[in-house]
Amino acid sequence: MTGATHVITSVSLAAALGFHRPSKLIVAAISSVICDIDRNNSLVGRFIPILPKLIEGTVGKRTITHCLPIMAALGLLIWTSYPSLLIPFILGFGSHLVLDLPTGNVALLYPFPKRFSLNFGIPPVFIESFYLMGLGVFFTLNWTNVQTHLKIIFNF
Ligand SMILES: [Zn+2]
Repeated sequence: MTGATHVITSVSLAAALGFHRPSKLIVAAISSVICDIDRNNSLVGRFIPILPKLIEGTVGKRTITHCLPIMAALGLLIWTSYPSLLIPFILGFGSHLVLDLPTGNVALLYPFPKRFSLNFGIPPVFIESFYLMGLGVFFTLNWTNVQTHLKIIFNF
């Protein structure tokens, strides 16, 4: 998925779950794109070009920056410093990992070499297009129902 798709998803998720403060939405957005620091053509990788080369040359793409142990370590760091930002961080980082599964192999348990993916049998570009189309239709047609159900489920 592209950086824009990750940002749209994480900020939409955070907003739908009741996180409306700019600081929380910014954390959700940043944590959704920071994973792709391992790609030189990514939103974040373009700003610090040395990091993608370094990461790809040593551990490879979608490894250390796309794994649950790093998400847990960063989450612990955030929880001890700014506890109110933990959930927005998890929404951003976690949604990135989930959204990358249909478009490639992700080493979720790095340093263990096992890679995970979801294969729908269609090219990744179509998966992203269908996903964005569905997201737009979902929020447009059912926004009131979505809010009502989320408030009931999460009691907010
Ligand atoms: Zn990624």
